[in-house]
Amino acid sequence: MGQPPPAAVAGGAIALGQPTLGAEELAAVADVFTSGWVAGKGPVGEAFEGELATAVGTTHALAVSNCTAALHVALLVHGVGQGDEVIVADYTFPATGHAVLYTGAKPVFADVHADTATVDPGAVAALIGPRTAGVIAVDVAGLPADYEELRALADRHKLFLIADAACSLGATYWGRPAGSLSPIGCFSFQGRKVITAGEGGALVTDDEVVWARARSIHAFGVESALHRAAVAELRVPRFIELGYNYKMSEVAAAILRVQLRRLPEFLAARRRVADRYSEILADLELVTLPRIPSDRSHSWQSYILTLASGVNRDAVATALRAQSVECTIGTYASHLQPVYGDTHACPVSADLFARHLAIPMHANLTESQVERVAAAVREAVEKACAR
Ligand SMILES: *Cc1c(COP(=O)(O)O)cnc(C)c1O
Repeated sequence: MGQPPPAAVAGGAIALGQPTLGAEELAAVADVFTSGWVAGKGPVGEAFEGELATAVGTTHALAVSNCTAALHVALLVHGVGQGDEVIVADYTFPATGHAVLYTGAKPVFADVHADTATVDPGAVAALIGPRTAGVIAVDVAGLPADYEELRALADRHKLFLIADAACSLGATYWGRPAGSLSPIGCFSFQGRKVITAGEGGALVTDDEVVWARARSIHAFGVESALHRAAVAELRVPRFIELGYNYKMSEVAAAILRVQLRRLPEFLAARRRVADRYSEILADLELVTLPRIPSDRSHSWQSYILTLASGVNRDAVATALRAQSVECTIGTYASHLQPVYGDTHACPVSADLFARHLAIPMHANLTESQVERVAAAVREAVEKACAR
């Protein structure tokens, strides 16, 4: 079924990110309306979980309300709480650090590689202490972190390893899907991610015990409504522990089943955009293009340029907006956010926070839009350096 990509309007502003949602998703939502089961933990959600697990290559997937909830659940599964420290990749959307704070534990931020912006395993190793319970790595903008080194480190020190794979659905590392590269992976289906239902998330794992614990914690600490409904007699469930309400609605799950089926199409479209940007901007000396190590592939949730230190990023952003090209920062240096209080410095992350610039990246971009963006970037960067 064809869907008109809204960004294709000639002369209109080129959006930074944009979902690709259309008639198939609407039809799937209509089916949920007809079924009458719109709340969470129904048959559509269960089907989505099975399909996601298959796509990622894990035994289990748990659909939840968002990725931050998945991260929170993952930490609670490991019994993280007050007195614990969790080492967190510094360069990330602050959801990662927030999830640690929700548990009462302390996030200890680890600096990142200058080229990939993913966490530096050496920095993680240097921060391990007696209170360290585990590590959260982040697949920045859709590029998997260094899981071989991170897994070895976690195993050696008996720490848990959680992947914040919010942006990396569809990416790979050594040919294996993102999310399956650590014992627990957490995805986001928020509006700017690779597939979306507006909001949404999932936790994936091969571990039976983790899955059972996560299922309880994400739904009030009670057994699932689906399984209760299958029993004829009246059954009164018991609330065994303090769980949360992090369930995904059937409406969202229905949208995501369609989106997941279309994932290969979205990934190919995003890759085409990335390849074209890299081709056109290759000779621009004031800009470093994204680097992808040869052992992994990118989902291209974002396309992020690193501006040379002499380039005024604010001036570039202003010039791009004047050309109706949206842009934004790469992501956040967590340790600089006041909510986390006084923390040690992560100079590489701070530098990327100041010099990264994300330009339009989504599956609806046309060839001529990509060329318009690239031309606007070239002009803006050259001007912003001259002054
Ligand atoms: C988007 C994002 C999140 C938060 O995801 P939600 O589904 O909005 O909770 C967490 N971490 C990273 C790296 C993200 O990009």
